[in-house]
Amino acid sequence: MKSIFLSASLLLVAIPSAALAQDSKGRPEDTEQWSPAVPVVTPGSSETASPPSDATVLFAGASLDQWVSVKDGSAARWTVADGVMTVLKEAGNIQTRQSFGNYQLHLEYRIPADVTGKGQARGNSGLFLASTGPGDTGYELQIMDSYHNDTYVNGQAGAIYKQVPPLVNPVRKPGAWQSIDVVWTKPMFAADGSLKSPAYLTAYINGVLVQNHAALRGETIYVGKPGYKPYDRAPIKLQAHGDPSKPISYRNIWLRELADIAG
Ligand code: MG
Repeated sequence: MKSIFLSASLLLVAIPSAALAQDSKGRPEDTEQWSPAVPVVTPGSSETASPPSDATVLFAGASLDQWVSVKDGSAARWTVADGVMTVLKEAGNIQTRQSFGNYQLHLEYRIPADVTGKGQARGNSGLFLASTGPGDTGYELQIMDSYHNDTYVNGQAGAIYKQVPPLVNPVRKPGAWQSIDVVWTKPMFAADGSLKSPAYLTAYINGVLVQNHAALRGETIYVGKPGYKPYDRAPIKLQAHGDPSKPISYRNIWLRELADIAG
């Protein structure tokens, strides 16, 4: 029985090889790419969810020195305690000191266990993938409590706000830490400012895909239709939403800048 199986396996291997030789248009190694070598990156450990070795760390638990107030560019004033930053609503939105183009970003967030309110007024914050101006200007991936809390689907957690609903809702109960991972491909503009290619977002919440290379129609706008205005590099913003519910917390924020996409 064993020898029959072995012979059959050899036969299966032999047939494709023979076929390959017959209509060959070159050698297998002709289509192997060996350089440039792919950089080796040490992945973060799952125990600590620590950043990979080539990451730009935006919040490691102790300091907000990578962040400034959107209002006036002064030092960010959100609360930092026990390795966690918590939104201070009266201090307004904060954004990174540095500007970025294309990137992969990771963050963790926690809705307070005793969060109150409903709809958009329940644990609302947001990740602005590019903060292109004051206030809430830019491109928002919605962060809020969407655990048994209905709102418009293109406004719930994981939505590209007012544009693209998330594919699924993988959020955890308030009180639990949750993760968001995104790949942001910035929009490209011609020299005259016209749009060459839209922004694209791929996003995961708790490791589950919620946006699959979704094309954006422009910057987030609360009323009316989104539109683009040219930018090349921009800070990343976190939202201090004005709803009266208890503020949410963030930890472990890092990104890896990615090269511009050719063409
Ligand atoms: Mg929001």
